[in-house]
Amino acid sequence: MENQIGFGSICVHDPKEQRHTQPHQLPIYATSSFSFDSIEQGMDVFLGKQPGHIYSRFGNPTIDTVAEKIARLESFGTGFEASGLLTSSGMAAIATLLMGLLKAGDGILTQGNLYGGTTALFRDVLQPLNIHFQTADLSQFDQLEALLKKNDNIRLLYYETPANPTLDCYDMAALAELAHKYNCIVVADNTFATPYLQRPLQYGADFVVHSTTKYLNGHGNSTAGAIIGKNKEQMREAVLPKLKLLGTNCNSWDAWLLNNGLKTLEIRMDRHCRNARQLAQWLEQHPKVIKVNYPGLPNHPSHEIAKRQMKDFGGMLSFELKGGLEAGKQFMNRLQFCTLTPTLGDVDTLVLHPASMSHISVPREVRLQYGITDGLVRISTGIENIEDIIGDVERGI
Ligand SMILES: *Cc1c(COP(=O)(O)O)cnc(C)c1O
Repeated sequence: MENQIGFGSICVHDPKEQRHTQPHQLPIYATSSFSFDSIEQGMDVFLGKQPGHIYSRFGNPTIDTVAEKIARLESFGTGFEASGLLTSSGMAAIATLLMGLLKAGDGILTQGNLYGGTTALFRDVLQPLNIHFQTADLSQFDQLEALLKKNDNIRLLYYETPANPTLDCYDMAALAELAHKYNCIVVADNTFATPYLQRPLQYGADFVVHSTTKYLNGHGNSTAGAIIGKNKEQMREAVLPKLKLLGTNCNSWDAWLLNNGLKTLEIRMDRHCRNARQLAQWLEQHPKVIKVNYPGLPNHPSHEIAKRQMKDFGGMLSFELKGGLEAGKQFMNRLQFCTLTPTLGDVDTLVLHPASMSHISVPREVRLQYGITDGLVRISTGIENIEDIIGDVERGI
């Protein structure tokens, strides 16, 4: 064929004869669309009568393979199959799912100590569309039930456990039971724990969302999100159409990077947890440390709940330094090994001082309400050698 078409056409048309054997690793499908052998095949794929891809905004083999892998991880050991979609970010996952499930007039019940972006999405994007939200302490079941009874527009319970930055954990099974009693859909953000440590679907959640940017990727080199649903039909009929229309799909490159990270999720998480536990125990003994928030410590208020619903206690912790804001800032500036950055879940140890970084524009009284004191430091414990992490934290203190 190469001899029968022009030079410029050879430039444009890829020879197909070279694609013989299956690649061992997942290829990056850098194609916006898919071609059909015949009009009949095209019709069947469009009608959903045979599997196939059409256009990468709707999904492609790279993206769908990774979405399916996360769905299998989130439903592991539950006895049912879930289905998954990958999105361009964690925020895209949350926005797409909620747009798919809610309509004007519906309400959301959630916690005050949510990821900041999620609170802002509820307030600045959904609220103007007449989808309102209320916050409550998700450990106070009498208050929650009173709210659900009084507000019959509440259609959805949205939770994060462990919650940022004090690592409070909430009883997932009890929350789902209460929400379902009032016909609410239950959505869990499982970014902090990952499906290796806890699987909300097993505890009654209907959907799980992720910022895969964090632990699932684990290497800080891609931004993406995931939506996992227990009900495949609802995912296909209510969520996928919204993803297609909002254009919140993931791309092949970020999906591929995420997949590389996923391969080592189990062994990374084991090391994150072990290092965080050792660091928390070391901090607890330090005279300049007032308080350590780590659910793995027996004196953490959520220790019992965490023990019941998590395999281990995760890589995130926070602690309060004596000396308030100044002590917090000085600590950050003395670090040489740990990195100052607002993200979390990477293989290296990441440190954040909420009062001067992530929560700098939140009024002091408001952040104090959620335990974000002036001297609070959050650590995303990496998988390095623990002596180096503790050595640097000691230098900082
Ligand atoms: C980071 C994060 C998000 C938002 O995810 P992006 O990938 O940054 O859009 C949502 N929830 C939690 C708990 C997060 O940590």
